Amino acid sequence: MESSGSEDVAVVGAGPAGLAAAEILAAAGLPVTVYERMPSPARKFLIAGRGGLNLTHSEPLPAFLGRYHPRGALDEAIAAFPPEALRAWCEGLGELTFVGSSGRVFPKSFKASPLLRAWLGRLAERGVRLRTRHRLAGFDGATLAFETPEGALTVRPRATLLALGGASWPRLGSDGAWTGPLAAAGVAVAPLRPANVGFAVDWSRPFRERFAGAPLKRVRLSLDGEHRLGEALITASGIEGGAVYALSRLLRERIDREGVARLSVDLRPDLDAGALAQRWGRARQSESTATRLRKAAGLSPVAAGLVREATGNALPSSPERVAALIKAVPLDLRAPMPIERAISSAGGIRLGEIDARFMLRARPGTFVAGEMLDWEAPTGGYLLQGAFASGRAAAEGMLAYLADRG
Ligand SMILES: Cc1cc2nc3c(=O)[nH]c(=O)nc-3n(C[C@H](O)[C@H](O)[C@H](O)COP(=O)(O)OP(=O)(O)OC[C@H]3O[C@@H](n4cnc5c(N)ncnc54)[C@H](O)[C@@H]3O)c2cc1C
Repeated sequence: MESSGSEDVAVVGAGPAGLAAAEILAAAGLPVTVYERMPSPARKFLIAGRGGLNLTHSEPLPAFLGRYHPRGALDEAIAAFPPEALRAWCEGLGELTFVGSSGRVFPKSFKASPLLRAWLGRLAERGVRLRTRHRLAGFDGATLAFETPEGALTVRPRATLLALGGASWPRLGSDGAWTGPLAAAGVAVAPLRPANVGFAVDWSRPFRERFAGAPLKRVRLSLDGEHRLGEALITASGIEGGAVYALSRLLRERIDREGVARLSVDLRPDLDAGALAQRWGRARQSESTATRLRKAAGLSPVAAGLVREATGNALPSSPERVAALIKAVPLDLRAPMPIERAISSAGGIRLGEIDARFMLRARPGTFVAGEMLDWEAPTGGYLLQGAFASGRAAAEGMLAYLADRG
């Protein structure tokens, strides 16, 4: 086993949180080594780029902070590095940004790769060493044990920053395997759960065969007085898409409590029930239900199919009740899809385990950041903003800690 005594500080995990931390630490003049288990850094960040790389959101800060759960989880970190600062940072690396019609912020290139290339270039110029194919396998606070292609390696850095991510899309590197060793080191960890995820629905076979892959455009989903307008996608095993993800925490919690979550789907959010009832009342009774749902109610084939699926094809007789149904189709969601298919994960190191510097109370000298902490947020740029801001805040915390120790 090779052992390396080192004066360096170590960052483990080369995702946005770890790299953001390394940038701050290197700018302060510290020798920094970043360890990453995969052959190349920031794979999840690159995949996020396939969707255009929604970096952050342009809404006012109080509303922005309100998106995080638990509330207040990252307030200080994000106030210190708010969305405008993230945009300025991105532009400083040569990638101009813009605000999309939904308020979301993207690089103009819609890609992560040019930004990552420029960022890694800056880190290399500042002397940050990147050690890929180094998997952190053991952790006792002071010593880090890595598995590498050359064999085992132990390192004793002056301070360590862990940014190992959550457990969604594990083939990109973050598999949540750190939860065991950290729990063994006395750190309380909430189980990692799927967040921003689709849900299983027991579709009938004809519905599944006909509509799997069909989008429900401009629907309004509701649960317990929370409403989300957007798109959903029917899949062979359930339902997913932006509007579903946006309610996924509440849906997951409801299923945890009651075994099922009844989602209400408004298929015509642009029409009130009265107008819809009038249109239905004028429809020709001689036409089939499917035709009337399409022509009179203006539903797409998949939306009409959903109404018939929910009622076993036996629609109520009064126009008012049909209208009420179209405005609130009940859909029973049975379980979140597996974490492997989630955009992000909830759970992780409990926030009570860290101090204001993002340092583990149980392991002084070890700092943690990013998705491995127990916060969650919807899609819309909040996840990356949280990763960047907490990475930087944890690095500032480490600098303050090292300064205190002289
Ligand atoms: C398909 C998809 C699209 C997304 N799109 C967006 C988006 O547009 N906007 C947005 O805000 N968010 C998006 N996200 C979420 C966002 O990418 C993540 O929240 C973010 O990458 C988390 O950053 P992180 O640094 O905390 O963790 P990660 O990015 O997961 O980085 C952690 C790193 O640690 C490494 N690691 C893990 N374990 C070990 C170990 N034992 N030893 C060494 N290294 C280890 C991993 O390989 C990884 O490189 C998307 C996610 C997915 C899956």
